[in-house]
Parts: sequence; structure tokens; C-alpha cells
Amino acid sequence: MRLITKRRLFTPGPTPLHPAVQEALARPILHHRTDEFRSVMKECRLGLQKFLKTTGEVLVLACSGSGGMEAALANVLSPGDTMLALVAGAFGERWAAIGKAYGMDVRVLEAPWGEAVSPETVAQALDRDPNIRAVFVQLSESSTGAAHDVEGIARVTNGRETLLVVDAISGAGAMPLDTDAWGVDVVVVGSQKALALPPGLAFLALSRRSWDRIESARNPRFYFDLRRERKSQAAGESAFTPAISLVVALRAALLAVEEMGGVDALVNNAAVLAEATRAAAGALRMPLVAPRHHGNALTALYPPEGLDSGAIVKALKSEFGSTVAGGQGGLKGKILRVAHLGYYDATDILGLLSTLEIALSRLGHRFELGSSLAAAEAAYLRQRPDARS
Ligand SMILES: *Cc1c(COP(=O)(O)O)cnc(C)c1O
Repeated sequence: MRLITKRRLFTPGPTPLHPAVQEALARPILHHRTDEFRSVMKECRLGLQKFLKTTGEVLVLACSGSGGMEAALANVLSPGDTMLALVAGAFGERWAAIGKAYGMDVRVLEAPWGEAVSPETVAQALDRDPNIRAVFVQLSESSTGAAHDVEGIARVTNGRETLLVVDAISGAGAMPLDTDAWGVDVVVVGSQKALALPPGLAFLALSRRSWDRIESARNPRFYFDLRRERKSQAAGESAFTPAISLVVALRAALLAVEEMGGVDALVNNAAVLAEATRAAAGALRMPLVAPRHHGNALTALYPPEGLDSGAIVKALKSEFGSTVAGGQGGLKGKILRVAHLGYYDATDILGLLSTLEIALSRLGHRFELGSSLAAAEAAYLRQRPDARS
């Protein structure tokens, strides 16, 4: 006889919807040229400023995260400009690909997948080539779980004429990000990650010095013309029809973050769950893809020796209804990725680890049942020595 299985996403986008988001999405739609919508939009922009720790302009765009990346790049550069992409995974490659599509002179600094490009390497590249107009990087490289030292890289770009553009699509709300204090010029965020919304919105935080570039850039722009968006959004509108229902849900998501203690609490939540997952991985002899540079938005793991990662993904889905992500690019079919960003709690992650043990056991992996849970629970207790810490 069959058992009940609940459908659960443990993918680093989309992530599970917050119940307040689901409730907001079920409401009748508003018209966007109304005071009611304009006030929602204004609240969202203020909430996003808080979420991203900036007093600068934040724009809401109707597109997926990659649309936000394209909008950022197309607005701060002009055709033929030299740009530097830090590439340590599939999303770093995307920066380079967008640059090529727009006819930029793309320089690349590569790190092996699972590692990160260091601020020192960036400094050397900028010393060698002072014509580099902007540096593009991921805060959290979702294809490997690695994190870049964005604070350190910002220290390098701050004293120069080079802008720093950060894809924090999976990093914001999962990893520390202090946009203004670090001096990041452009931050890109997507709705379907730590904010626990459906896909469909991208957010851009823009520094004052990035606006000088945006005003003078010579790239063709239309839908993603940030100059026009800035004017409309200052009045609580947008240049074209906004994704109204998603914006209404965004307000609910931002309120939910505040209720849980703000962005720092959300970041800490991901850190606790990620640390427990890494402890469990050690007990299961599943090597981390990014052992030295791991972030906390997600954990990427190789399967135990002799096991196929695809079989593990399939087993979790078919027996337990849980979706974990496989690999991308060169890691396709080789790894598992488990998300911690957004609306996850300890029971979600400990439950997943428990069912992962059952799946591994069925696939013939030899280990002591419960050993990864013991490691994860100990990691949890270490980080939270009392119930309210
Ligand atoms: C999810 C993600 C993206 C892409 O976002 P889409 O919404 O799929 O376009 C880009 N960068 C990172 C780091 C991501 O995690």
C-alpha cells in the first residue's frame, strides 16, 4: 500500500513559497494605475532597500533573474567596453555570455568549479588592464555552492573607476551582503530564491556612481531601460505593466522576513541549516563540491563512491516526493544540490537528510543508519546551545 508523500522543493530556485506569499497570490488582482498599487510598490521598494542594506535606488523588474543580469550589464556598459567576468561556475559563465551577446570585450578570470576567484587576483587583473569598466561576479555561485568574497572584491573596485556588479540572485537573504557599506555598485536579486516567491521578478540595487554610467551608456535599451524605470518607479509605477500579483506577494514576503527577525535572521537560518548539512555529508562520505569556499545558500555534494547522483535524485523524488537539484554544465549528472535559502526550517532539512539515508541505503551504500543525523543534530546543537540562542 502506498504511503503519503508531500511534494517538497529543495532546489536553489525555485524554493518553497512562504504561506503569506501563497495567500497574497490568491487575492483578486489590482489595477496598477491606482493609489492602492502605488502604495504597495513604494512599500516594496523600501522593504527591498532594507533587505539589501542600501539607501540607493532599488528597481523591480518583471523578468527572471537572468533578465536582471542582462538589464544590469546592458545599462552600465557601452558597445566595445572592456569588462571582467569572474567565472567559477555556470552562472559566472552567464555573465561572460551576456557580455559577448552585447558586443563587449569580455575578459575572464576563471577559478575551477567549486573554488572562487580571490580579491588579489581581481586586483592584479585591474592593475594590468585599467580599461576594465566593470567587474561581474556571483555572491553565491549556485552551480557549485561556492561563495565569492564580495566584500574583499569591493575593496579592490572601490578606489578605481571600475564598477562592481554582483549577481546575488541566490546569495541575497542567504549570505551576508552589505551593499552600501561594502560599496557594491549593482546588486541583482531574483524572486524565487530566498524571498520565497514564485519566479518572475528581478530586483536591482544601484549605487549613485552606477547612475552616472547608466545615464551615459550607449547600449541600445528599451524594455530594460533603467533610466525610464527609475522615473516611473519613483512614482510607484513602472514603465510597462508590472507583474502586479507578484508585486503584491513581494510585499507579503518582505513583511514575512521582518516578522522572522529581518534579513540577518534569514541569513543565520541558512547558515545553521547549511552547517548541519555539511556535517551530515561528512558522515555519509559525500564530498562537498566547494569544501574551501562553501556558501550557505545551498550545499552541493558528490555522491558516495560508486553511486550515481541521478539515482539518488530519482529515489528522493519517487519515494519521498522531495526534489533536490542535480548538477549543471560540467557537473551535470555528477552532483546533488540541496537548498537552504529561503523558507526552510530544521525539520525540513533533518527530514530530508533522514530520507536521504534511506535512499542511499536502498542504493547499496554501506554506512551506519542514523550517523548523518547524529552529525547534523550535533552541528545544530553546537550552533544553538540553548533553544532560544
Ligand atoms: C537562479 C540563479 C540565476 C538565474 O536566475 P533565473 O531566474 O533562472 O534567470 C542566476 N544566478 C544565480 C546565482 C542563480 O542562483
